[in-house]
Amino acid sequence: MYHSVGDCADDPYRVTVAPDRLDAQLGWLRRRGLRGVGVAELLAARARGGGRDLVGLTFDDGYADFVEHALPCLRRWGCGATLFVLPGRLGGENAWDPLGPRKPLLSADGIRRAAAEGVEIGSHGLTHVDLTTADDATLTAETTGSRTLLAELTGGAVTGFCYPYGTVDARAADAVRAAGYGYACAIDPGPLTGPYALPRVHVGQNDTPVRLLLKTRLHRLRRRAAAGV
Ligand SMILES: [Zn+2]
Repeated sequence: MYHSVGDCADDPYRVTVAPDRLDAQLGWLRRRGLRGVGVAELLAARARGGGRDLVGLTFDDGYADFVEHALPCLRRWGCGATLFVLPGRLGGENAWDPLGPRKPLLSADGIRRAAAEGVEIGSHGLTHVDLTTADDATLTAETTGSRTLLAELTGGAVTGFCYPYGTVDARAADAVRAAGYGYACAIDPGPLTGPYALPRVHVGQNDTPVRLLLKTRLHRLRRRAAAGV
């Protein structure tokens, strides 16, 4: 689970990795015989009984720096990824993070550029609200509404959803399924773990090869496996 790729000098939420760090992390994956892909591609491979050499890479929020810094790096290492964007904040900024530096978000053109390079575009909701505290109308707008907007924007079906803040409950997961998505990413969904609450691991600027190896090993202990995935 990545977010922003750029200058990480002022990064209170630990959402940023420097481009050279991302480059080193993807190189580490490749040297271990692994390859980063979008989550839809990973799940399709797993459904066919394969995918053991694949790692799902996700970039949340749709920061503008994805096109400038992450795309060239992904291209260099032959990796894919899923980019979870906010169609209610196109060309806006990360106003939901009050303490951190303002970071610009991709415009519609930027999202199309990423899609044209093979990046899977998924929804992060409309505006980055916690779905577990949203009223019914907001929940529908954030799930169904964002999927409709993204399908218009990209010209293709949108299968992936990612819960803002990683927070999910049964009601939010049901809304995501009812909206027509095929899967959804959480962070540490506990008993809800499954195709509509996939666990992920934060990868940050401090993650050197040694730490990545430890995280890979610890993941099996920290998160329950998603049955049927
Ligand atoms: Zn987010």
